[in-house]
Amino acid sequence: MSDQYIEHLIKIIAKLPSLGTRSARRIVLQLLKKKETLIPQLIQSLKDVEDNITVCEICGNYDTQSPCSICSSTTRERNLLCIVQDISDLWALERGGLYKGLYHVLGGVLSAIEGVTPDDLNIGELLHRIEKEDINEIILALPATVDGQITIHYISSLLKGKNIKISTLAQGIPVGAELDYIDDGTIKLALDMRKQL
Ligand SMILES: [Zn+2]
Repeated sequence: MSDQYIEHLIKIIAKLPSLGTRSARRIVLQLLKKKETLIPQLIQSLKDVEDNITVCEICGNYDTQSPCSICSSTTRERNLLCIVQDISDLWALERGGLYKGLYHVLGGVLSAIEGVTPDDLNIGELLHRIEKEDINEIILALPATVDGQITIHYISSLLKGKNIKISTLAQGIPVGAELDYIDDGTIKLALDMRKQL
């Protein structure tokens, strides 16, 4: 039906999360309809991201600089650290500007089924930060799934005796829901009502 170039682009776009072949086809069709304006903009934007975005060596966030703008900020609460599963959760917390502390991106949660061990997560870096930085409270903003709870238990056991207040997000976040899908009001409530472990 369509050209091999078009098919190839559809295949690439269909690899992106939450997009199947049908959505990818619609996107490609729209790109072709606006070929003169949309495609050069997209090429430029992808190039800008490729050339300029890097992973923060401290927290794991994406930024144009490493350490990122959050880690190098002088106005944030530097003794409060929020541990998140993924960068999308960090973005969700930043979206409403509700949280003023620092972050640490774990890169996943422990999972026996998927074979995710502590070595696969940024836990060594976390312990290193705790030794170096002046952190006195840690919020474990991890999913309310079994794997999330096991990860919370594991990290809090590592932090025992370090004189750090440890809390988890309050109830209100549905089981398995990512922070990214939750409205700012609920996130604020979950932060304000956080429970100390
Ligand atoms: Zn950072």
